Amino acid sequence: MAVKEKSKSNKKAIKQKVSANTDSAKPKQVDLDQLTTINSDDENEDLEFESDGEYEEKNTKNSKNKDDSGLKHQKDDIELNKNFVFQLENTFELQEQDLMQSWDFESKEKPEDKKKDVDLDKIIKRKGGLVGLVGVEKAEEEKEVEEIKEEEDEEDLAMDGFGMGAKTNANKEESSEEEDADDDEEEEEEEEEEEENNNQRDEEQEGSDEDSEEAINNFFASKEETEDLQKEKHQTFNSLELARPILKGLASLGYTKPSPIQSSAIPIALLGKDIIAGAVTGSGKTAAFMIPILERLIYKPSNVPTTRVIIITPTRELAIQIADVGKKIAQFLPKITFGLAVGGLNLRQQELQLQKKPDIVIATPGRLVDHLKNSVNFNVDALDILVMDEADRMLEDGFQEELKEILDILPTQRQTMLFSATMNSKIKQLITLSLKRPVKIMINPPKQAANKLVQEFVRIRNRDNLKQALLYHLLTKLDANQQFRIVVFIARKEQVHKLRIILGLLGLNVAELHGSLTQEQRLQAVTQFKNLDKSVLLCTDLASRGLDIPKIEVVINYDMPKSYEIYLHRIGRTARAGREGRSISFVGESTQDRSIVKEAIKSINETSKNGNNKSRGKALGRNVSWEEVEQYNKILEDKATTIEEILDEEKQEKEILRAEMEIRKGENLLKHEKEILSRPKRTWFKSEKDKKNSDMLQALKDTKKDMNSRKRKQQEEHEEGVKRSYKKTKNDRAVDQEKFFKKQAGKKAGKSKGKFGGRR
Ligand code: AMP
Repeated sequence: MAVKEKSKSNKKAIKQKVSANTDSAKPKQVDLDQLTTINSDDENEDLEFESDGEYEEKNTKNSKNKDDSGLKHQKDDIELNKNFVFQLENTFELQEQDLMQSWDFESKEKPEDKKKDVDLDKIIKRKGGLVGLVGVEKAEEEKEVEEIKEEEDEEDLAMDGFGMGAKTNANKEESSEEEDADDDEEEEEEEEEEEENNNQRDEEQEGSDEDSEEAINNFFASKEETEDLQKEKHQTFNSLELARPILKGLASLGYTKPSPIQSSAIPIALLGKDIIAGAVTGSGKTAAFMIPILERLIYKPSNVPTTRVIIITPTRELAIQIADVGKKIAQFLPKITFGLAVGGLNLRQQELQLQKKPDIVIATPGRLVDHLKNSVNFNVDALDILVMDEADRMLEDGFQEELKEILDILPTQRQTMLFSATMNSKIKQLITLSLKRPVKIMINPPKQAANKLVQEFVRIRNRDNLKQALLYHLLTKLDANQQFRIVVFIARKEQVHKLRIILGLLGLNVAELHGSLTQEQRLQAVTQFKNLDKSVLLCTDLASRGLDIPKIEVVINYDMPKSYEIYLHRIGRTARAGREGRSISFVGESTQDRSIVKEAIKSINETSKNGNNKSRGKALGRNVSWEEVEQYNKILEDKATTIEEILDEEKQEKEILRAEMEIRKGENLLKHEKEILSRPKRTWFKSEKDKKNSDMLQALKDTKKDMNSRKRKQQEEHEEGVKRSYKKTKNDRAVDQEKFFKKQAGKKAGKSKGKFGGRR
């Protein structure tokens, strides 16, 4: 009750403190050349958290519950546009694709085994936040933005301060000083720009030398063969001559025409050729490899259950999405089975599932190595196809070790298909993936934004410190009733988390998605966002990559991305399938930020020049009432200690939960000691946590020292008997088999001896 009262007064206080200043009504022009930095890009920070294997044996039962309840009603949210036509340049219609839906994750874990998470909202509430939306009058949007037109005088544009609202005399001066200072930089920038654009991707590939033409020619299929294979452009799935159940599956998904990557890759994949395809999420790449896989499984059936296909992908979410799409396309092929080998979901359950040798196994690298090495009865000796999805990311994210382990175990006689958002990987790296003269398929990423997308830009200038308040201000203005889905892209995950707290303190209940969250928390965030339980999703690029979220009305670039391609990819999440959408970018002073805005405007103007005036998007400068933002910022400054306190409390609660979990685990280990000790020893550790668990087991074993010697000897003998081989190579397996047969033969002999003995 006290909290409620406090919350109410907090809301009132914020309302009173911020007199809703109307933003300047004076139209402002955006100056491309005035854009000058937010150098907070540190996406690599996320990488360590993106890999699988961090969270083992989670509460899969809980996931299943979500499956049953939370996710089902999302169906209503998704409109299928049956008449949608694929365009090479644009992203396309979203299909129903709910995470986890239709995937049956069973678990024997009991409710008490459920891993608890810190309830951050509860802490924020305790501190007086999350009181509902702070009421700020929604101003007329037309007054806040002004279209940028190419024919307008660049000089005029230069004076407007990039849509920052009417200047006072004081800030006019400030602006021109800054503009002078910018001049030199701009000249240099012009010279560097072209080169920079060309080299942007290469820069990310630290110091890697270019591949020689000879290396490229030797590695890939010849130019002639590649051209020949891609000659025919398939406009329909029928012309691809797919099996009827697959066509039925595709039709039921509403896929009427193949996407560009599908029409290019499917026929080549059906020939059994190795492929390296450049295709981003959203291009339809999942079906591009799933369709030929299914086709092949139909025509080369196996009488005994055999795992014939492995699809490796960097994250669990992607693996689950792929499984979901695959199962939907294969819905009229009941004999084809799918299995998952991903981190974060119950290991033993997966082991049981894999023992049944599903036709297609979708895996994250760490967990796959674990199963390959440790799961009895799971083997891949008869593998036909290996798919590596987001291969570039796996190579970048330090999965090399796991990939090497996997490739060492997999048979070399197989088809390998590699899908990659970028084609940056060097031949040297690709060679390690043992492809055989792969055919290179390149699908151009979208070069322009969707037609009904309005791209707005806010120049931050030297107001980086106001960005948090600006975000709050915009969120309340854009969507006071929380009816839109708004995605906010932020460079660093720490900042994502902090912003969630800040916005929570100001009364906005938003979701966060980044690599530091548990699997459970990530799924929850996506579900809440999809269901509009939380209409704002704060995320990093990496965490959101690959996630297929329908109907996003606004994309906010809190931090600008590193390249125009990523920018297009981000804003491509809105205005899909002919819908309207808006992006708002906070533009810093860096060359990088500015060149992205330039490219965006140039692209819109080019579309308009080509006579496509009706369908072109718009670039707008957004005016912001900085006085209002300043006032919000003051409130935030006052809350600085509270924010720190919340972070501290969260940390403490986490530690308590962790300790409690360790205790529970210890108790469980003792309770189920017998069963645990009889389990085979795992030989592959995905994470420190894994190692710790193993150490705990070891400690438990050590306590058995006081067992009487006979008992101990027996125990040791037993453990030795079931210990797994370190490497399940073919040789090892052959040796095992021989031992097994010998043992069986011995038993038989013994039995028959006994029998005869008895008879005699
Ligand atoms: P992906 O790039 O595989 O993540 O696919 C992106 C989205 O496109 C998903 O929602 C798919 O269901 C959808 N999709 C894939 N292929 C087609 C197609 N041929 N027609 C319509 N939608 C498709």
